[in-house]
Amino acid sequence: MIHIEGVEFTYPGHAFRLRVPRMRVGAGERVAIVGPSGSGKTTLLHLIAGILVPGSGDVSVGGSSLPSMRETARRAFRLRAMGLVFQEFELIEHLNVLENILLPCRISPAVRLTPGHRERARSLARDMGIERELNRYVRRLSQGERQRVAMCRALVLEPPLLLCDEPTGNLDPVTKEHVLDGLFAQVARGHTTLVAVTHDHGLLSRFDATIDFTALQTGGAP
Ligand code: ADP
Ligand code: MG
Repeated sequence: MIHIEGVEFTYPGHAFRLRVPRMRVGAGERVAIVGPSGSGKTTLLHLIAGILVPGSGDVSVGGSSLPSMRETARRAFRLRAMGLVFQEFELIEHLNVLENILLPCRISPAVRLTPGHRERARSLARDMGIERELNRYVRRLSQGERQRVAMCRALVLEPPLLLCDEPTGNLDPVTKEHVLDGLFAQVARGHTTLVAVTHDHGLLSRFDATIDFTALQTGGAP
């Protein structure tokens, strides 16, 4: 599903440098990425999502090479093939929860919003324990609720690949287990490939594999 080969990346004008000689994630695999803060884990997710493009090397997702696409094609590909749950949730504050969950259906050029999408949005919200909030404005929600809205939104189009950056960082322990159960149930049902950055070592047993980010950069990880 994900093939990274010889990737080097720098932010223009900054000293930080990311180097990933090789990384492979198979279709349907659930992989956690762990590593020190500031080491480049979020940058790596942005490269896999095609939000950032490497200075050299290749990132391919489902057989499509992202660096060789134009920006508009990369964006369309991302909307079709990936769900993203990033640290800034990028929710639309003046829309309610249901409309936020349905956003990918509205902005993806390849999709037309159907009653089926609304039903799926409601069912995801039930799984994540926010079904009573569907009509509330997002700006009134707690961080934990916002996180769950972002997760429902990422899953609404049943993407083959789901990328999560610290998906449980804002959740209390009980809500965390609830949300993780919902997330992994969805991932299992959709045979979704999951790549999640996490600091929470208690979560790792839920994944098929853990990538140590430091080892990855020196070529020591699979
Ligand atoms: P992590 O997610 O592992 O904490 P990041 O990928 O967020 O690490 O950041 C890696 C490094 O890149 C850090 O030194 C950070 O300050 C720097 N960095 C992140 N985003 C930018 C940016 N947009 N411009 C310049 N430097 C950045
Ligand atoms: Mg980060």
